Amino acid sequence: MISVADALARVLEATPVLGVERVLLPDALGRVAAADVVSTRAVPAAPNSAMDGYAVRHADLAATPARLRIVATEPAGTVVAAAVEPGTAIKLFTGSVVPKGADTVVRVEDTAERDGVVEVQKAPAAGANIRDAGEDVRPGQVVVGAGTVLGPADLGVLASVGRATLSVHRRPRVAIVATGSELVEVDVEPGPGQVVNSNAYALAAAVREAGGEPIVHAIVGDRREDIRAALGEALAADVLLTSGGVSVGEHDHVKETLDALGVERLFWRVAQKPGKPLTVGRRDGHLVFGLPGNPVSALVCFAIYVRPALRRMQGDPRAHLPVVHARLGAGIRKASGLTEFVRVRLDERDGSWVATPYATQSSGVLSSLSAGAGLLVGPADLDTLAAGATYPVVVAGAGALGRAVPAF
Ligand code: AMP
Ligand code: MG
Repeated sequence: MISVADALARVLEATPVLGVERVLLPDALGRVAAADVVSTRAVPAAPNSAMDGYAVRHADLAATPARLRIVATEPAGTVVAAAVEPGTAIKLFTGSVVPKGADTVVRVEDTAERDGVVEVQKAPAAGANIRDAGEDVRPGQVVVGAGTVLGPADLGVLASVGRATLSVHRRPRVAIVATGSELVEVDVEPGPGQVVNSNAYALAAAVREAGGEPIVHAIVGDRREDIRAALGEALAADVLLTSGGVSVGEHDHVKETLDALGVERLFWRVAQKPGKPLTVGRRDGHLVFGLPGNPVSALVCFAIYVRPALRRMQGDPRAHLPVVHARLGAGIRKASGLTEFVRVRLDERDGSWVATPYATQSSGVLSSLSAGAGLLVGPADLDTLAAGATYPVVVAGAGALGRAVPAF
């Protein structure tokens, strides 16, 4: 049995970064840039006004009020040929290009206009209200670096420099094969001893959330030949996730089948709870995660091992889930010798996090892993976790840090 840290290191060592593809800008959200994107343009292209007002020569405002003759008007989207000469002004609007001769924009609120003359009542500082050319982006600037996980602002910046497509890492195709003779499809009323194949849904959703493309295969019973046929086919995907059949029961054939299919075993069994029977292997750069069938174990193993692998495949340099450090609200016993992932609720109190363990830590209770869950990491060498002590909590669900009320 190996430690969590060693298991994770072996997974990441065996995980390749996938190749690249070109996508249209609207499809790039959440993807990882595969190369630096360099702008050939300046944004803004020319100095422009940050205000509605008047372009002037600051020297003309030595004494206020100052009266300047308006020689032109420049609505957004147009550019006047006229220059601002001494004693004159050009009327402009937010975003208008600053005309030749002008060095300052006076905002409209500090003026009064009558009969083609503007009276400036209050002089701003020299150079006020002008956004320089290239203030946002200079030509030759890297606007999106390789490894950036693209967010809305990145898409906006790329659009502003005229990049309609870009190169991103491919998303992994992830085959999901649930094994177990007790499993039935979601639209079937389970008979005695039968269980709905919930793992297929939970894992497919987790894959999608991690940026992968799930390919859900039909349920496979616990017969060796059926498992071999299904896994042989599913190994075509970049990643294969199986659920069930990795324990020591006499119907647990997944490990041996993977061996027979030529999958190199990286490890079997990790000193952790839940998820001890996890097995991981690889064949020709394809990764295989033999997840325990227990739904909680399957999702915890996904969060700790599979998700980082899928993120790394997509080129994400920050492949791991975020962690907060939280005070434990109540002391608990844990399994000695195993790293325990304790399902907790996170609450912010007086600016720090408090973790409250869910009443049941049974690995049969999947509902305790719903959107707001955190996984408090109980160190392997302890058998009790003390109330008031601080532990890392893996933020497993995006909702865990969401707020019901604003913080400001
Ligand atoms: P196993 O790892 O095959 O020993 O399964 C452990 C437990 O998880 C058993 O109670 C199974 O019924 C349950 N289980 C296995 N596969 C699934 C699945 N795909 N969906 C929901 N529960 C499952
Ligand atoms: Mg089973």
